[in-house]
Amino acid sequence: MEKIPSFTIDHNRLLRGVYLSRQDRTPSGDIISTFDIRLTEPNRQPALSPESLHAMEHLAATLLRNNPEWKNRIVYWGPMGCCTGNYLIIQGDLSSSQIVPLLIDTFRRIADFEGDIPGATPKDCGNYSFMDLKQAKEDARRFLSEVLENIKEENLNYPQ
Ligand SMILES: [Zn+2]
Repeated sequence: MEKIPSFTIDHNRLLRGVYLSRQDRTPSGDIISTFDIRLTEPNRQPALSPESLHAMEHLAATLLRNNPEWKNRIVYWGPMGCCTGNYLIIQGDLSSSQIVPLLIDTFRRIADFEGDIPGATPKDCGNYSFMDLKQAKEDARRFLSEVLENIKEENLNYPQ
């Protein structure tokens, strides 16, 4: 089988950041942009816990779909199996820098979140108690302050 493009990124040199992973054109002509929202340096920093990523998934998906400017273009948010980041899929021909303000807003709201996690009930989720809100808030705060709020070119473009 051919290696798919996302497995050809040099993960040894990949930093935390916001990367345009791929763009696809649908049969109806829409461009769909898939972003790699990388929260830890692969194999060099500890990966996130699945419980943190799960709490973050519920919050981010809810916040993005409620963002007045972006909600109609959000296709998907979900965790990577390697637990070092998330995928965000948005309708439109977008660059990584164009979505940084959306991510700052989203991660700030996660870091400050108080209350019940949306959808964390047995009716709404397949493993509703498998969440760590405290850790998700800490992970969001760190990504916000150490990466998003002072983002550099090397955090916006995959290593060449
Ligand atoms: Zn869930």
